[in-house]
Amino acid sequence: MKYILVIGDGMADYPVPELGNKTPLQMAKKPNMDSIAAQGRSGLIKTVPDQLLPGSETAICSLLGYDPKKYCTGRGPLEAPAQGIKLAENDAAYRCNLITEKDGVIRDYSAGHITTGESTKLIAAINKAFGKLGKIEFYPGLDYRHFLILRNFSKPELIHCIPPHDVIGECISDVMPEAKSPEVEKTARLLRELITRSSGILRTHPVNLARVKAGKNPGNLIWFWGGGKKPDMPTLKEKYGLNGAVISAVDLVKGIGTYAGMKIINVPGATGLSNTNYEGKADAALKALEDNDLVVVHVEAPDEAGHCKDYALKVKTIEDLDKRLLGRILNGVKEPYAIAISPDHPTPIKTGTHARDPVPFAIKSPSLKPDGVKVFDEVSAKNGAFGLVKNEYLISLLIS
Ligand SMILES: [Zn+2]
Repeated sequence: MKYILVIGDGMADYPVPELGNKTPLQMAKKPNMDSIAAQGRSGLIKTVPDQLLPGSETAICSLLGYDPKKYCTGRGPLEAPAQGIKLAENDAAYRCNLITEKDGVIRDYSAGHITTGESTKLIAAINKAFGKLGKIEFYPGLDYRHFLILRNFSKPELIHCIPPHDVIGECISDVMPEAKSPEVEKTARLLRELITRSSGILRTHPVNLARVKAGKNPGNLIWFWGGGKKPDMPTLKEKYGLNGAVISAVDLVKGIGTYAGMKIINVPGATGLSNTNYEGKADAALKALEDNDLVVVHVEAPDEAGHCKDYALKVKTIEDLDKRLLGRILNGVKEPYAIAISPDHPTPIKTGTHARDPVPFAIKSPSLKPDGVKVFDEVSAKNGAFGLVKNEYLISLLIS
């Protein structure tokens, strides 16, 4: 028996007025997701515990069976392994976004989705100016997503950092990292200074001058968030006896997969955006199923469309995911299988940021009789046989 979990990041939504008060999932043509719902069972699942902030870090830990309250130590430590960054027990890892600042205000959390080629040069300049090996280390990641590692700083949870996508339009001075306890004041000040001083390095960098000239948002400030220490997670093999592989463009998902002991499969052309290589991911999934019990395929594109409040793009990403990825997997899979489709969390068009509402899911498995639900979306899933799942993980439902 093979198990497949397809995650459409941020795919769930609220009714969108411009879509006739339908959600993007309701609006999209998605015969393959609908067939999973029609031939299997649906439900809504709570992926974000009340105490935690909604985001892929909490929601994907939860989908994969890891209690986010215990293992979700922050975006920084969860994403770092995907870039080959090794963390010791007492190191703190932070996400370091390249963002766009204008007139003291945060304008863009992604610096216009700056490319990896461009941002790698900017982070190298930052590391050259501020890095101290063994103390303060900057590492480049994908697009706008980079890392700051503070070696031997063991109290990252005591510094309050705000994700830049939650404070678009806010004054920088109002949302800077703050110490929650005097013992970390010195480090909090260091983080604020690094952010402020990064402007001097980045503003005049040739990469940014070229971006401004081309009418694109420059990566003219760094921003720290998601700080934490590495989690001590049991592997999927230890928990469920499964060999797993994960396919994603996004460091967070690869990092969680790494801690879970899964094989990380990198697909050329997988971008984390709507131009991603859907077919390549499907083919990689089919290949991975040959020697793994569980394959997790993650598509970031609907989340990014949600952050951009672009409802038409969100519908398109769902249709592409359905036709070009899911359909290709369903057509190509040879062995007996169970498959689940689910968002991690909603990224509603209305708010442009993550929400904590339970998400719709559907599972098709030889051991499950259909429940009468015919299509896959937020409203239909309410009537599914699983009902509202609060205390179980999607992976447990998939493999049981
Ligand atoms: Zn997101």
